[in-house]
Amino acid sequence: MNNIVVCKFGGSSLSDAEQFRKVKAIIDGNEERKIVVPSAPGKGKKEKHKVTDLLLMSHQLGIHKLNFDEVFNIVKKRFISIKEGLGLNTDIETELDIIYENIKKGAEQAYCASRGEYLNGLLLSDYLGYRFVDATEVICINEEKPDVETSCEWIRSKISVEDKVVVPGYYGVNNEGKIATFSRGGSDVTGAIMAAGVEAKLYENWTDVSGFMIADPKVVSEPKPINSLSYKELRELSYMGAPVLHEDAVFPLKSLRIPIQILNTNCPEDRGTLIISDDSFETVGRVITGIAGKKDFTAIYVEKLFLAEEEGMFRKLVSIFETNKIKIEHMATSIDTISFVVPTQQIEGKEKKIAEEISIYCGTDNVEFSKGLAVIAVVGRGMVNTKGTSAIIFKALAMAGINIRMISQGSSELNIVIGVKNEDFEGAIKAIYNQSKEM
Ligand code: ASP
Repeated sequence: MNNIVVCKFGGSSLSDAEQFRKVKAIIDGNEERKIVVPSAPGKGKKEKHKVTDLLLMSHQLGIHKLNFDEVFNIVKKRFISIKEGLGLNTDIETELDIIYENIKKGAEQAYCASRGEYLNGLLLSDYLGYRFVDATEVICINEEKPDVETSCEWIRSKISVEDKVVVPGYYGVNNEGKIATFSRGGSDVTGAIMAAGVEAKLYENWTDVSGFMIADPKVVSEPKPINSLSYKELRELSYMGAPVLHEDAVFPLKSLRIPIQILNTNCPEDRGTLIISDDSFETVGRVITGIAGKKDFTAIYVEKLFLAEEEGMFRKLVSIFETNKIKIEHMATSIDTISFVVPTQQIEGKEKKIAEEISIYCGTDNVEFSKGLAVIAVVGRGMVNTKGTSAIIFKALAMAGINIRMISQGSSELNIVIGVKNEDFEGAIKAIYNQSKEM
């Protein structure tokens, strides 16, 4: 490990000149913060739009030969006001003119989308006095996914351990040498790849919240923060609707066991959340690390005598969902029944077709659809060695008068997943949260 800290700053952390000042104070506070990855300016106190959205809009209008001056002017003003607010010399005006002309000529979407990070990177490198390294030199992306190995090779050849550099987030080049981006929020992934490439001792992800909370603050008032999370817990919670970090940000760091610290640019003293390797010895201190969930699933119940014993039955059923492009989120079986939980949005309008296919292919007796299901995951690496966790969760729900429609426990004993009615979603999370404080 090298004494390097990679810092990624999200869009709201760099939304205007005042935010840039906060970022510089943070960087100056630790000599080891040598690699900085900025997002494009996001929403701010006065700014209503994300620059990336405005650039995508300009691109849309541009390819249809419509006038995009009004939208592009907002982008222009944002960057010029940051430059002037900080008294910088970067010729951002010429850069903006080039981008404008390219959009007019029908530049590709990825190029347009990436320009917010590019311009912010130029300004930030000028402001910090760090060298600007374009992401096209060090980040390889194909179909929105990072090529970590190639990127790390490029990083090692372009950046030394003493270097202080700014590398724009979110984009890179693909195998054809064209600009490519990750999916939205992808600067998190750039930061992770940079940390892996230089074998950093820490990846700091600076955002506008002080890390993960045990439960969504929109559901539970003032939930406690999560001080430490394992990589696997992070994946479970992010997948289940607790978004703070892009889901591809963990993979590059896993084998090197580089920790990620989520921190708040506006409250830099807050402890934040430290995301650590799954085999780390750090104790949790609590059985339940976090609770997250999503609404609007449909449960499909399939019934047939001795269904579980019939050869190829599961394969046939799963293939029906596959060919209809419906993602199975959960599956529960018994001797005569099997139930699938799928996102309602994906099955809507296809119910009749699915029911027909199931009864034709599988000769089933009965297929039922039950909409309006919410799925809640209770996640905790401390559950493995603790008895009675599920008893406590179920008791909490029973006492709150909530009926459980589905239960499933992940094979790693890292999570317990519960299905309740949509209207019970908030109540269930509150009840589990209140009970988890005792554990
Ligand atoms: N600026 C891009 C977005 O808005 C990427 C990022 O912020 O990470 O999604």
